[in-house]
Amino acid sequence: MENVALRLQQLCERINIAEKKYGRTPGSVGLLAVSKTRGVDEISAALAAGQYDFGENYLQEALAKISALNHPRLVWHFIGPVQSNKARVIAENFAWVHSVDRLKIAQRLDGMRPDNLPPLNVCIQVNISGEASKSGIVPGELPGFAAEIQAMPRLCLRGLMTMPALSTDFHQQRRSFRELRQCMEQLQAQGYRLDTLSMGTTGDMEAAIAEGATLVRIGTAIFGPRSVS
Ligand SMILES: *Cc1c(COP(=O)(O)O)cnc(C)c1O
Repeated sequence: MENVALRLQQLCERINIAEKKYGRTPGSVGLLAVSKTRGVDEISAALAAGQYDFGENYLQEALAKISALNHPRLVWHFIGPVQSNKARVIAENFAWVHSVDRLKIAQRLDGMRPDNLPPLNVCIQVNISGEASKSGIVPGELPGFAAEIQAMPRLCLRGLMTMPALSTDFHQQRRSFRELRQCMEQLQAQGYRLDTLSMGTTGDMEAAIAEGATLVRIGTAIFGPRSVS
């Protein structure tokens, strides 16, 4: 587990270097540790090293970890597909949902968010690559969808998220992330106060930072290779 602390330290260094290289304000890129498939012991090691934001994709697995871990600064983010019959449990147990891409899901999360909790932070997931297999709405649907979410009192629209087509080509990676940034800038120009661009994983983090990511979602570089999914 000392590995986790060391990898986190190296990752933060990688983020700092990319911030400098691409003219980003130091400290403007946040780190979401993606802990899907990882055990409570690994998450605890990251917590002990000062990492407080964790992203989970699978609800049952996440709930077990959420109930096992108790730390006042822990912040749980749901980053996987949301099934509508799971919306209540997600609204009750997470501070953020990055993968909102259907009106019905947004309505359920809004309706189910407990009154004693602050509004649920949400990002709209955008399908930049246009692949039919990918989750997310197409950019053309964003203005209408953002307006619907903005009107929901128990949701706080924070920004946009994408999971682009896999590419090892830096320029291709940048093109996808640039598109998401431009989508956000268009919404901001319409008056939306958005502060979150959730983009970049272990393999394309630098390209995402170059294009304005404010939150990179990193699993492998912190916890090592996953054996499944
Ligand atoms: C698994 C996952 C990540 C992290 O990917 P790594 O390559 O392990 O850094 C980020 N975002 C989402 C939505 C994921 O499912």
